[in-house]
Amino acid sequence: MVTETERDDMTWYQCEECGLLFDSEADAERHEENCTSDDDPSYLQ
Ligand SMILES: [Zn+2]
Repeated sequence: MVTETERDDMTWYQCEECGLLFDSEADAERHEENCTSDDDPSYLQ
């Protein structure tokens, strides 16, 4: 799930699975579709 968070007067979109922040909701949603959250360190966007 992607959640909105405000930081530095900007709205960020955070992947709840792995905690990555995106400045674009579309990017966050696209990431989240592919986020496995199975602690694979080799996978970073
Ligand atoms: Zn993620």
